[in-house]
Amino acid sequence: MAGEPQDDCLFCKIVAGQIPATVVRQTETTVAFRDINPQAPTHVLIIPRVHYPDIATLGAAEPGIAADLLRVSGEVAGEEKLESYRVVFNTGSGAGQTVFHAHAHLIGGRGLEWPPG
Ligand code: IMP
Repeated sequence: MAGEPQDDCLFCKIVAGQIPATVVRQTETTVAFRDINPQAPTHVLIIPRVHYPDIATLGAAEPGIAADLLRVSGEVAGEEKLESYRVVFNTGSGAGQTVFHAHAHLIGGRGLEWPPG
């Protein structure tokens, strides 16, 4: 069923506490934790507790939870005292998505170039 945990999903396992993560914030609908391979001094992933493969499918099915990802991104940026930062949703393997459970990357704490590679 849409949104149900998937046995083969790494981020569903983090939501369930079956894989350890450095969690920085939790809400009823989201979990935020530090990326295991940080690309900047702050690199936090904000994920929905429900399973959807990417932000497009999440946003279509659960727009309120998609909005929660953005709200929590801003809250974590504030806690991390980031004045400038980037929130990124890699969508599709051609854009670098490797984990097919929707997630926002919150990246900051260093200068960020535009356009990204
Ligand atoms: P994507 O490439 O946009 O799908 O982002 C997936 C992110 O998950 C990458 O930045 C990985 O470094 C990160 N990642 C993979 N496994 C783990 C983990 O076990 N804990 C935290 N981050 C992870």
